[in-house]
Amino acid sequence: MIYYGKQDINDEDVQAVVDVLKSDFLTQGPTIERFERRVADYCGAKYAVAVTNATSALHIACRAAGLTHGDMLWTSPITFTASANCGRYCGADVDFVDIDDATYNMSVDALEKKLQVARAAGGSGRLPKVVVPVHLAGQSCDMVRIHALAEEYGFTVLEDASHATGADYLDTKVGSCRYSDMAVFSFHPVKIVTTGEGGMVLTNRADLYEKLKLYRSHGITRDPALMTHAADGPWYYQQVDLGYNYRMTDIQAALGYSQMDRLDAFVARRRHLVARYNELLKNLPLRTPHVMDGATPSWHIYIVRLDLTKVKKPKAQIFTEMRERGITLNLHYIPVHTQPYYEALGHRPEDCPVAMQYYKEAFTLPLYVDLTEEQQDDIVAALHEMLR
Ligand SMILES: *Cc1c(COP(=O)(O)O)cnc(C)c1O
Repeated sequence: MIYYGKQDINDEDVQAVVDVLKSDFLTQGPTIERFERRVADYCGAKYAVAVTNATSALHIACRAAGLTHGDMLWTSPITFTASANCGRYCGADVDFVDIDDATYNMSVDALEKKLQVARAAGGSGRLPKVVVPVHLAGQSCDMVRIHALAEEYGFTVLEDASHATGADYLDTKVGSCRYSDMAVFSFHPVKIVTTGEGGMVLTNRADLYEKLKLYRSHGITRDPALMTHAADGPWYYQQVDLGYNYRMTDIQAALGYSQMDRLDAFVARRRHLVARYNELLKNLPLRTPHVMDGATPSWHIYIVRLDLTKVKKPKAQIFTEMRERGITLNLHYIPVHTQPYYEALGHRPEDCPVAMQYYKEAFTLPLYVDLTEEQQDDIVAALHEMLR
């Protein structure tokens, strides 16, 4: 069976984990900081905070941005639900900005228009406090324009870069936070590098970094500068805010640190396979990915769109027939605003028409580092037969 994604683990990764298991610290040890430093340096960001997964990373990032009841978070409907849920965890309202028909990322034109409408309607409550651009498939959003809108409208930019570890944007790595306040990575096994479960927030802002560390660990500090009065004694700590236990273990961090050795090779392999897919799928009635000027994706996933004027076979049938041949297709994503949870909050499918059309046409082909060219040829051959 060929799945849509999977991890690549080598002997060095295994040894790195074993070494931690034999060391003094399974958690709250030195490996966490080494991993954080390595990812931050790779991206060119000042600070990094490793956590249990990208979902908790998004949550504490929203807390650090001060998002709370009565506030608004905006994101893309074509994403994993966690990009929106982080706003709800904070008690904020969530709204969706339709996607760009070419890149499937949040449309910056739609964002600008929605901001203008919200401002014209008055009542500052309807302007977003946080905007979460999602770098779908590992292709950066148009961050220069989003950053300019953030300056004009005063919102915090939180990049959901779960797909984009190792991706490039202009002359920076995604995660540099050159055009944002914070960026989040996921280290789930299907993503670019893995820690089993894991996530990270990157930032260049010292104030956000301090808050992120606090929220990761119960809101508890041992830093005298953050306490309300002098310590009672050497045992002393204070809980100064409401935080969580979102700590990554050293076992996971060791795996992540070791995986970073191969990040560039992982991304190079994915780019090679994507170039091959683009070539091999040329004459089929489907759209291969469009890449915006300035973006060089890491390719977490490979999404194609059916030309429904030419393909009469229902998409569900294509999924079933491919599965019978041992090939698992996937769909990234069901528009989040149509999920029953969000529908119950008043969102309607027609709020994001471009995303709805995308949903009818899109599906994801298998893509991972270990996928062989022979397997890729089999996938393409099956697709040719299917769409004939
Ligand atoms: C995978 C993913 C997440 C959640 O990541 P976890 O590490 O599983 O919590 C969030 N956003 C996007 C876009 C993702 O793809």
